[in-house]
Amino acid sequence: MITSSTLYDGNGSAPLSDVAVLIDDGLIAYVGPRSGLAADLNPGARIEAPAGAVIPGLIDAHVHTTSPAAMVANLAHGVTTVRYAGMATSAVDEMREALAVRGQVGPRILDSGPMIDTGSPAYPQWAEVAATPGDARTLARRLAGSGRYDALYPVQQITPDLLEPIVAVANEHDLPVAGQLWATDGEEAARLGVDQVDNNSRIFVSRDWPAGRLGAFRSMAERLSNMAYAWSSVDWEATTRMMDAMIEANVAYCPTFVVWEDSFDDPSPAREALAGRALELDPVAQQGWDEARRRNNRSRPPDEFAARRAALEPRIEWVGRFHQRGGRITVGTDMEFGALYLGRELVFLRRAGFSVAEAIAAATGASAKALGRSASQIGTIEPGKVADLVVVSGDPARDPDAPMNIEAVIVGGKVYSESNSPTLGSPST
Ligand SMILES: [Zn+2]
Repeated sequence: MITSSTLYDGNGSAPLSDVAVLIDDGLIAYVGPRSGLAADLNPGARIEAPAGAVIPGLIDAHVHTTSPAAMVANLAHGVTTVRYAGMATSAVDEMREALAVRGQVGPRILDSGPMIDTGSPAYPQWAEVAATPGDARTLARRLAGSGRYDALYPVQQITPDLLEPIVAVANEHDLPVAGQLWATDGEEAARLGVDQVDNNSRIFVSRDWPAGRLGAFRSMAERLSNMAYAWSSVDWEATTRMMDAMIEANVAYCPTFVVWEDSFDDPSPAREALAGRALELDPVAQQGWDEARRRNNRSRPPDEFAARRAALEPRIEWVGRFHQRGGRITVGTDMEFGALYLGRELVFLRRAGFSVAEAIAAATGASAKALGRSASQIGTIEPGKVADLVVVSGDPARDPDAPMNIEAVIVGGKVYSESNSPTLGSPST
C-alpha cells in the first residue's frame, strides 16, 4: 500500500489529496481517499509519502538507446516504459540480452521494429525499404505478422500511397502506426489513420517554405536545415486546419524538444549539466553522441544555428495551440540518455502552457494511449491497471519546473528504492 498527500492519476485532471493506492499481485487494486479503506485492512508492505506525490510510471515514447547503462538509468528517473522509434531488431535484442545478462532491471521495452522508408533511407542501419505500395504491404505484413513488434514505424520519405497499405496492415494486426514523416504531412497522416507523428514531422505549413521547397534536400543535414528555416514563417491559419485534422483523427504529436535543443551550437548550462551526468554513466556512449553532433554540425552555416534556436519558440507555440484545441501530446526524448532528459521535456511542455497535471498526463496516460494495445494496461493509476508507479518527495506543483525527486519506483508491483536498487541512488534530474 502507498499513502501520500497528493496523487496525479495520469489523466490530466486535478490531483487528489490524502490518498491510498493498494497493489495486489502486480495490479492496482484500489486508488482513492485513505478514508475509503476498510478499517480492518491488512495492507502488507507500506510506502508512506506524507509530503510527497504518487504519479504513474513515466513513458519515453521515442528512443534509440544502445547503451545498457543509459537504459538502466531510466528506472532511477521514474521512466518505467520506453518505446524504440525505428531501430534494427538486432540492436533491441542485444539491449534486452545485455540487461538480462547483467541481471539489471530496466524499464519495460516496446519496439516499433525497423524504420520503414523508401529510396535511400536516412538511417540505413535501422531501416527497411519499400519502393512500391505492393512492397510496402509485403514488408508491413512481414513485420506485423512476426508478432514481435508493438507498432509499425514509417519514416521520412514515405509518401501517402506507400503509407496507406502500411496503415491497413497495422489495423489488421491491431498495431498502432507512429512515424517521423516528412513526405506525408499532418493532414495526410490524419486522413490515413496514423496514430502518432514524431519530432520534425511535417506538422505545419510554412509561407516561405512550401512542400516542394522543403522537400528539395540531398542529405539529412539539409532536410533539418530546411525545417529550421521553415519554422520562421508559419502560416498559422493553414497550420490550424492541419492541427484540427490531426485532432479530429486522434493523431498524437511527440515533440522531442530536448533533441532539437541538443542540436544547437551553444549549449545551455542545463543541457551541459545533463551531458556531464551522461558522461559519468557511460563515457563511450556519450562521447559517441557528442562526436556525431559535432560531425553533423561541422558542415552547417552559422546562421542555421540561429534559425534552429529561433524555431524553438514557434515549435513551443504549435504544441501549446494543439494542446489548447484538444490535441494529444506525448512525451519522448530521442536522446541516447533519454532518462536524464525526460524531466526537461516536461519543462518545455510547461512553457507551452501545460499545467503540472497535464504535463504528467502527457508523459503517462496520453503516451500510453498512443502506444496502443501494448500499453493498454499502463499509463494511469486506476484499479485493474498494472502497478507502474513513481513516488516523488514533494508535490511537483509546488515548484513545477524543478526536477522531480524520486523516492521509489514501482514496476508491475515490484518496488525499487534507494535501499534495494543502487541505480536509484543517483540523484534525479
Ligand atoms: Zn528518433
